[in-house]
Amino acid sequence: MDFDLGAEATALRARLRALVSAHFDEGFLGAFTDDPADLAATQAFCRLLAAEGLLTLAWPVDHGGGGGSLWDQTVVREEMWAHHEPRGAQYMGLNWVGPALMAYGTDEQKARHLPPIAAGEVIWCQGFSEPEAGSDLASLRTRAEPVGDPSGADGWRISGQKIWTSYAGMAQWCILAARVGGGERHEGITMFLVPMDSPGIEVRPIRSMLGPHHLNEVFFDDVPAGPEAVLGELGGGWSVIKTALAHERVGIARYARCERLLSALGAELAPHWDDLPAPLHAAWARALVQVRVARLLAYRTVHAQETGGVPDVIASAARIAVTQCDQSVAEVLFSAVEHRALEAKAEAPVHGAVEDHWRYAQAATVASGTIEVQRMIVAKALLRGEPV
Ligand SMILES: Cc1cc2nc3c(=O)[nH]c(=O)nc-3n(C[C@H](O)[C@H](O)[C@H](O)COP(=O)(O)OP(=O)(O)OC[C@H]3O[C@@H](n4cnc5c(N)ncnc54)[C@H](O)[C@@H]3O)c2cc1C
Repeated sequence: MDFDLGAEATALRARLRALVSAHFDEGFLGAFTDDPADLAATQAFCRLLAAEGLLTLAWPVDHGGGGGSLWDQTVVREEMWAHHEPRGAQYMGLNWVGPALMAYGTDEQKARHLPPIAAGEVIWCQGFSEPEAGSDLASLRTRAEPVGDPSGADGWRISGQKIWTSYAGMAQWCILAARVGGGERHEGITMFLVPMDSPGIEVRPIRSMLGPHHLNEVFFDDVPAGPEAVLGELGGGWSVIKTALAHERVGIARYARCERLLSALGAELAPHWDDLPAPLHAAWARALVQVRVARLLAYRTVHAQETGGVPDVIASAARIAVTQCDQSVAEVLFSAVEHRALEAKAEAPVHGAVEDHWRYAQAATVASGTIEVQRMIVAKALLRGEPV
């Protein structure tokens, strides 16, 4: 299999790598560390990418993008994830809030929200999961009640609780799933675009091994929202969620980081390769094969997107492969460096990256929908006789 995406993609990769290495040192591990300078550096880098026309390379020109192909966007995504996502939390707005707005937003919503995302100036969070409504998202209970006119023409009041909301403490906006009217399960769900500084919103950080800023609970207590806050049809939120999740599941190119770490650590270990235990040699080769399979399945999703579909089943198949390769690679890397993964990051940046990668890999098969749920989506499609 030839993974070469062509000369233009190679040039784009080189340009992105040069920018990353000019603005981040080798030990950079992403925005969510104990050092606030890392977060600030990612925010500055987003504005730089925007100025260079690289932040929304594949968005349509009308929406502030570069009009590039989905393959250009794939290259950007791979290089960013390979280098510990120097776009910080903004990849969420770029990868799926923006596309969801393009697909379902009114002209006013697009004009208001797309330019700040394209300029790298705004962070969005995604308020979907709730206590007892994660895998079974359709059972969510956060409610939006109309104020005055029952159609919502006078606005809404939103109450409920979200959980595991990434970046809620730093986000300016939330794309929020809430229940409206008497509709049951999927039928009652509506999407709202809510500023995070609205009265009645409280964010409580959840301490976790993913580091600061990442996971949060968000409480909504009678939060006001205007009629213009509704994204898509009233009761039509499930379609928006499906679009957002299909983009999300393919938007996280952790296979690119896996391959970069295998390559970097492989180069370091090469002189002592024969001293490593034989089972590790075999596990290393198996992990590399998994990485390549994950990449191939991710490319299949991009191809399906390119030909106009919402490739949710194919995206789930890719996501299963990506999260599994993430965990296999984490184990192989950790077995190779052992306790040295905890050594000072400045002296041994690859070792620090192994430790960071291992921690995040533990959550990979839960975030964006668990691996069991992804498997059921694929299995149901197979049973319906659909090509997967
Ligand atoms: C790092 C991280 C970031 C996240 N960021 C966000 C975010 O920004 N916004 C957001 O809304 N959510 C976010 N989430 C939440 C995530 O989407 C949920 O954790 C996930 O959907 C699982 O839901 P749950 O935690 O309620 O687990 P549950 O749904 O309670 O699942 C528990 C276990 O039961 C299994 N299970 C559940 N139902 C079935 C079934 N029918 N058949 C077989 N097995 C089943 C699951 O696979 C899992 O193993 C994030 C999660 C993580 C880990």
